[in-house]
Amino acid sequence: MNFCNLCGNKLNFIIPEDDDRERFVCEDCGHIHYQNPRIIVGTLPIYEDKVLLCKRAIEPRHGLWTLPGGFMENGESTHEGAIRETQEEACANVELLGIYSLYNLAHINQVHLFFRANLLDLNYAAGIESLEVELFTEDQIPWQEIAFIPVTETLKLYFQDRTHNIFPMHSAEILIDPNTKKSETNYY
Ligand SMILES: [Zn+2]
Repeated sequence: MNFCNLCGNKLNFIIPEDDDRERFVCEDCGHIHYQNPRIIVGTLPIYEDKVLLCKRAIEPRHGLWTLPGGFMENGESTHEGAIRETQEEACANVELLGIYSLYNLAHINQVHLFFRANLLDLNYAAGIESLEVELFTEDQIPWQEIAFIPVTETLKLYFQDRTHNIFPMHSAEILIDPNTKKSETNYY
């Protein structure tokens, strides 16, 4: 951020009075531009013994597989966002079963939230952001070609929980070592 979106003047990255961290503050009008994490909402659509994955048609991770999901919009609930993203990316009709997994990715200022969902029919298709949409059994999951860590983790949890048929909510933080780029997922 360089310029104030209220008055167009220059921003300084400073600690405002009565605050404890640096913010973008307008030199002229004094407006403080707060920046907060973004929420990514998605679903784990289930049909019989299969889950629905989308092959990404967009960067990042073009060509890799993911669960349907994306940035929450202003004015919608997490439920609405998850259903909308599932419609947009997989043209899939789902019924949400409940919050299933939540990941804190503090290194990129994101929170990822997945709902377990019933896929209501087989009228799914690749949306504009997907190359392909397919149902996979556990054996068929392309584990080496999954786009994002929260998706790999959510799929692993699901196949574990399915053996007991109990699906509690899981939450974790994902840490990335800045030097080695190795990731670590710690469940709370
Ligand atoms: Zn300003």
